Amino acid sequence: MKTHRRHFLQGLAAGTAVAGPLWAQPATKPTYRGPNVILIRFGGGARRRESIDPQHSYARHLTQELAPRGTLFGNMIVDLVEFKARSGEKLDSKLNVDTSHAQGTLYLLLGKYEKFRDRDGKFLSENFELKVPTLFEYFRSAFDVPPEQTLIINNENRPQEEYFTFSNHIHFGVDYKAETLSLFRFKLHLYSQQLKDPKLPEAERRRVAKLMRDLEKSLNQEQKNADRQGPAIRDFWNGWRAYYGDGGFVNERGDQLLTDLSLRAMQHLRPRLMMINYTDCDYVHWGVRSHYTDAIRIMDRGIRQLVQFVDHDEFYRGNTVFCIVPDCGRDNNPLADVPFQHHFNSRSSREIFALLFGPGVPKGTRVDKPVHQIQVAATIGQLMGFKTPHTEGPVLEAALA
Ligand SMILES: [Zn+2]
Repeated sequence: MKTHRRHFLQGLAAGTAVAGPLWAQPATKPTYRGPNVILIRFGGGARRRESIDPQHSYARHLTQELAPRGTLFGNMIVDLVEFKARSGEKLDSKLNVDTSHAQGTLYLLLGKYEKFRDRDGKFLSENFELKVPTLFEYFRSAFDVPPEQTLIINNENRPQEEYFTFSNHIHFGVDYKAETLSLFRFKLHLYSQQLKDPKLPEAERRRVAKLMRDLEKSLNQEQKNADRQGPAIRDFWNGWRAYYGDGGFVNERGDQLLTDLSLRAMQHLRPRLMMINYTDCDYVHWGVRSHYTDAIRIMDRGIRQLVQFVDHDEFYRGNTVFCIVPDCGRDNNPLADVPFQHHFNSRSSREIFALLFGPGVPKGTRVDKPVHQIQVAATIGQLMGFKTPHTEGPVLEAALA
């Protein structure tokens, strides 16, 4: 335990590393020796009541086992108006930011509330333009960390979130991107491998080429240019293909698949900073209550698997911080058949929480004063020892010993 603690402190000391443009950086960046961070989007929209309320939670492992291991922020909110009010700035509540999945993910990764716009100006499209750096870019510009050790684990049905791995910021951007693991990426890899096979029959070649084109339709040119996954990720997909085959029917589905991808990534790629974007709670949009409560149970089980892995793995044990935080809450409408079907920017959809635990995070602590979702980014920067100059939310001091 002592050595882990020492590494952790060395990591903090290394936080003096310079972030910024390539030309302004020292020729060799320091090796990263700080803690690993696993950021879990408790996602698809989850209310406090079904998540952290001991009376009503469907995430019993989270409330009973994990909360005592760390610091729980029970009153985290997603609210630009209140955030500005704290600094004395007045803002019309109509100008508040949206509470939804892509937005919440970006508030976490950028540390800033924003009204995001589609990259190509498409109405209602969520292919958002990122103007300030993501956590991955800060991290990789400060330390010598290869892209495959910074990961986003995504649901294949949300391709609009595939490129939350880098921003357009002039001093950061695609050179510091993270890699994404999702079935979407696996299929792109699989089809390109199949098309390289000279023995592939012509009819099959046409079929696979069409599948590939259909997948690529959701990407713009900039994304296609950025989409070359490195050799470590290609090896990862070759391993996945060898394990599960080409059919795509035998692997898990939904959020359990995200857990499996994350576990396999930890074994083979050793990510230092990984964000897992759980999403299944949102199936309650179909109008079935149990889609939501089952999804919380599945996330809880996934998190248990991840924590067990970390607790028993030599590389991660004693040197890994978990941060579990929803993208947004859900509505609280007692008149509706399913009171939590939506997340329409209501009060309750702005009410979330965050649980951090691991080395350097005080144990068994609960904080009930209001804090903000955008504070998570600066906190992770502080924990890992890199600067986050474009974040707006201050560090969650109570999470740091
Ligand atoms: Zn939704």
